This record gives sequence, C-alpha cells and structure tokens, in this order.
Amino acid sequence: MTQKEQNETLTAQYKTSRQENPDPYDLNFSSALKQTKILVINCGSSSLKYSLFDTSNPVPLMEGLIEKIGTSASYHKIKSQKSEVKKEVEVPDFPKAFSDMEAALTDTSIGAIAAFNEIDAVGHRVVHGGDKFKNSAVITDDVIEKIRQCIPLAPLHNPYNLAGVEAMRNLLPDKGAVAVFDTAFHQNMPERAFLYAIARDIGEKYHVGENIRRYGFHGTNHNYVSLMAAAYLKRSVRELRIISCHLGNGASICAIDHGTSVDTSMGMTPLEGLVMGTRGGDIDPGVLIYLLNSGLGVKDIDNLLNKESGLKGLTGLSNDMREILAAADAGDARAKTAASLFCYRLRKYIAAYAAVLGGIDALIFTAGIGENSAAIRGRVCHGLDHIGLAISKEANERAKVQRGHIEEISAVGTQIKILVIAADEERMIARETLHALALRQTMPTPKTTRQIPILVTGCHVHLCEADFAVLFGEGKTLTKKHQQRQPQSFIAEETLSLAGPLGTIENVSVVAPFKRVTQVEISRTEEFKLGVDAPLRLSGDLDGAASITIVGPAGTVKLNNGVICARRHCHMSPQDALSYGIRDHDVVSVAASGSNKDVILRDVFVRVDPNYTLELHLDTDEAASAGLTEESTARIAAIQSRAFI
Ligand code: AMP
Repeated sequence: MTQKEQNETLTAQYKTSRQENPDPYDLNFSSALKQTKILVINCGSSSLKYSLFDTSNPVPLMEGLIEKIGTSASYHKIKSQKSEVKKEVEVPDFPKAFSDMEAALTDTSIGAIAAFNEIDAVGHRVVHGGDKFKNSAVITDDVIEKIRQCIPLAPLHNPYNLAGVEAMRNLLPDKGAVAVFDTAFHQNMPERAFLYAIARDIGEKYHVGENIRRYGFHGTNHNYVSLMAAAYLKRSVRELRIISCHLGNGASICAIDHGTSVDTSMGMTPLEGLVMGTRGGDIDPGVLIYLLNSGLGVKDIDNLLNKESGLKGLTGLSNDMREILAAADAGDARAKTAASLFCYRLRKYIAAYAAVLGGIDALIFTAGIGENSAAIRGRVCHGLDHIGLAISKEANERAKVQRGHIEEISAVGTQIKILVIAADEERMIARETLHALALRQTMPTPKTTRQIPILVTGCHVHLCEADFAVLFGEGKTLTKKHQQRQPQSFIAEETLSLAGPLGTIENVSVVAPFKRVTQVEISRTEEFKLGVDAPLRLSGDLDGAASITIVGPAGTVKLNNGVICARRHCHMSPQDALSYGIRDHDVVSVAASGSNKDVILRDVFVRVDPNYTLELHLDTDEAASAGLTEESTARIAAIQSRAFI
C-alpha cells in the first residue's frame, strides 16, 4: 500500500469512528471498554447514599440510602431491580453504615452482586475541589491531601466525603476510585465571573489564603443536564448557549456557553444566589455587619443564613415548596410572597444570564422543584417573552419526567427550547469514574511521545474575500511573506490596523488563505488595549464574539461578532490522532520545556483534519507566561477528557 493509500484508509477509518452515535455524550456508558460495575458513593455528615451501576444496564442495579447515622432514628432504604424496602436499623457510626451497605449489595434476596469484589470501580461525590480540580480525579494520596486542603471551604461536607473515600479504600483496596467534584464544572469561568470585587490583598493581609472567590456548586448536574439537552436537540453542546436552573432544596442557576460554565449563582459557599429552602441567596453584606453590631454572634448568623432563611424564613412554615404552594393557594399571604420572591429572583437571573450568553438556545428546569412544579415553571417564564421565551401551558402542565427522560415545554415554533430534565448526579459520577479510569489506560505510551512543534501567534486577521476587497481595493491579491507549517497557510506582506473603543493596534498580520467569514484573533493583553471583550474560543466559533473596526489602505470594515481570544489547541492529522489514540475535539495536557522552566499546559483542544500538520498553537500571552518560545519543546502528556461527539 502506498503512503497515500495508507493515509486515505486511516482517514476513512477515522471518519467512520465519528459517525452518528446514539449516545453522543456517553451518558449510557457506551464507551466502556468492557462490562464494568461502578459503585457511586455520596457520604454526608449523617448519611450514606450509594448507587451501583453496570455499564451494560440502562438503570442502576441498586440504590440505597442510610440516613440519620449516629442517632436512634437511623434507617436504610434500598431499591433494587428485585424490590424496594425501608427498614429501621441501628447505625451508630460510618463503619457500620458501610458494612450494612456491603451486606445489602450482596444479599441474595435483594442484592445485585454475589460478592463485593465484583465491583470494578468506585466514584465519590466530593463537594469542594477549590481551584485545585478542574476535572474529576483518580484518587491517590496526593488527591486526598488536596481534598483535605479544601476542608476550610466546605467544613460540613469535605470531611465526610473523605471519610467515604477512606472507607472504600479499606474495603476495596485494589479497585480504581475517582473523586467527582461539585465545583469542577465551574472552574473554567472567566475571572470577571468568579472574582469578588474586594481588595485583592485581603487573603495575604488577613491570612485567609487566596480562596475568596466564586466556585459554584451543583456542577455535576448542570453538566449532566446540558449534555442531555444537547443529545435531545441533536446538536453539539459546543454550539449551544444553555441556562440550567437546578431548583431543589438547594438551588442554583448556571450559564453554559458552548459546553463551559461561564457563570453560576452560588458563590464561595452555597449561600449566594437564588432563594432556596432554608437559604436566602443574595443579600446585602451590610445586613450581616448590622446584625453583628446588633449583638448576634457568628454562629447565630451562620444558623440564620443556612437554616432559618429562604422559603422557611419568609413563611415561618416550611422549606418545602409543595407546602408553600398549598398554603399560598389557601390564601396564606406570606406563602404567596415567598413563592413570588422565589420566582422573581430566578427570573432576574435568567434574563441576566441571557445577557451573559448573548442569547439562549435552551432553558432547563431540573431537581425537585424544577422537575415537579408546573406552577413555578409557569410563573418563572411568565414575562420573559421579550427575550424570546414562551412556554406551552399544556405541555408544562402535562410534563412528568423520569430519570433519563426529557420533556419539552416550550411553545410550538419558538426558538428557545424549554426543557424539563430529571437530575441524575449519580449517573454522571459513574460516567466520570469510567472516563477518569479509562483515561489512565489511554495515556500516550513512550513511543507516541514525540515532540510537537510550537507556533506562537500574535494578533492576526483571517479575511473573507469580500472584506479583503474593501480593505485593500478590488483586484488586489495577498502576497506571500512567510509560509507557515500548516501547508495551506501563509503570512501575507499586507498588514492592517485594528481600532477598538479604547485603543488601536497597527501592523496586524493577515493570514492566508481566505476564510468564509472574517475573524480577528487577539490575546488578553491586546483585548485590554483595544477595550473589547473577546471570548475564549476555537477558530470559527464566532457566536457572541466581540466586534471591532478593521482599517486597511483602501477602506474600513466594521466587524460584528468576529473577534476571539484563541483557545490553545493542537493541530494534527488523522494519522497522528490514531497514533495517539486521540479523536477530534478531545482535550489533552501538554508538557512543554522552555528556556527556564518545565510546564504542563492543561485544556489543550485537539483539532484533527487531513490537511493539518502536527503543531501546538499558543498566543503570545500564554507563551510568555509559560516561558515558551517556538524553539521550546512540547509533547502530549495525557488525554484529559474525551469529546464523545
Ligand atoms: P431536591 O433537593 O432536588 O430533592 O428537591 C427537593 C424539593 O423539591 C423539596 O423541598 C420540595 O420543595 C420540591 N418539590 C418536590 N416535588 C414538588 C412538587 N410537586 N411541587 C413543588 N415542589 C416540589
């Protein structure tokens, strides 16, 4: 076979592997290399929740909840494919809870497995990963230590999550285990969304660390429902702008731009944002100072904000929306106010996040209230027609969701889809566990760790032919100055200027060949200089991109939605991709060695095309901050996450 034929075969194989997939985001574990049993553990301060998944089975084999551990009222609820039971049991401590779980899972009358050792992997819910975890992590001593370091951020959760990790390490020492963080999905939020506008030196000055910032929670479910929505809409999540409303006893809303959380209402703690069962959400911090000055202690305020506010605080009745709505129907004035405040706050956030995203493709309701209350969904959407939201009264009232299913409740013919999706954190944790452990197996082997050339790109413009004619005059052509490594691409002799609201950049390179639409790529430094707000994007992904004026020798072009800050990425051919075991849109970490330091660049996006040559693209800012130049060396260190699209 000639090299050309070999290349064509590899390209065809590659394309086949990307053909339409009924489970594009692997929410039904279709990527599992073999049948795998995954135990998902959610260990709280006085409860142990567990679910056993089998990758070849669409529903969990068994789910259990041991509640009120350490009290005289403890009980164990078990739901298996064989039966459902609830029994009062004596569970004085966690070791007993774990041994009860093991006994239930292997009990021949209700259990799902003959021996505990049949479990292949364990996934743990961990509430707070701080800024240490952007992804789920295979549990090692180092990961445990980092989770421990996050305890001050979640003192009521992380210690118990860790107790669960330790207990399972003792019970199944030889099985892989993964920590899945509520905070991880939000770790790519831009600074403008996660910073609080308080003195930058507060951490140092008061010895409270550098931790004071927004982290966000419910990330596992926000991520899950966004993938469910994309699969339902038969579109890539990377094309969609989604607002997800997780309305349970705790509630948060998340703006998801092209698959990434770009803002969320919960903050450094789960107290910020929406009105919740016992938490009030947004409040003027001055109220707390006033209360402190009035003699309330820190513990009183903690109790007030966490346990006595929200629906419960407003009504003095209950934290349960069902009871609030029933009381409101019966004429209770406080209950009416509480329900109205709940909906008003949420409506405000939806409109704000529509502004953040520059439009919405889908609005999702999930968790207890979001899934079950047509009344709340109807009230929230009422009055949002000016941003294009229209709910179907009939579909809303009819909607009943089960796990794994979606109900569409938007009015027929409207652009923005309103969806009701059942929360399923456990399934997402099982999927993450599978992926994190599978990733370990697919780390590039030494023979594929070859060096990747680096291209450091300064500010540049890709032009469409029509804009080129306006800027340089009819009948002109681009003159090649410098051939680039990508065979079809060269830097032209011709240059342009960019004029932003706050500044101008001269002598900007034009990169050939012509594109379908004009696109300007700038770094964060240039963004600041020009005074524009360019989103971090891949080339060609211009929805919601910034605008600018391009000035050429023969004319100017006002470019709307064409300026991006290019996300770091690695070009490769299908042959390269196959040799690495990588697919288009996968995300990898790259190890690079500069003149004075070695760095790991995470979140490097892989772009595969038969016309590409292996090359890592960084912009001038990131190359400078990492101490890298085009003479530096780079290689793929790990596959970070799989695309599954
Ligand atoms: P979660 O935290 O997701 O389990 O949600 C629990 C909350 O969902 C409860 O506190 C209830 O307020 C709410 N909920 C469940 N069913 C309904 C319903 N049919 N109508 C209104 N709220 C409901």
